[in-house]
Amino acid sequence: MAKLTMRLLDGPLADGAKVVTSMDSRIRPVLAGGGRTTLRCGSCAFPVARRIDPESVRGLVLRCPRCHRDNALPD
Ligand SMILES: [Zn+2]
Repeated sequence: MAKLTMRLLDGPLADGAKVVTSMDSRIRPVLAGGGRTTLRCGSCAFPVARRIDPESVRGLVLRCPRCHRDNALPD
């Protein structure tokens, strides 16, 4: 299983940004699928997405359920 640390986003999000966040207060990955890569938060290293194809989240903002920072795929 590959691990990839995401890029932290600072400042306000762009208009129309698509944010993926947890629907409740449980601290668990916001995405999981059938891929091979775990994406870790760039701030606290929490696995924000598990078993995904990184390109499937290209252009999305993933909000860490643990530290609430916004992350994106590295360029
Ligand atoms: Zn975090």
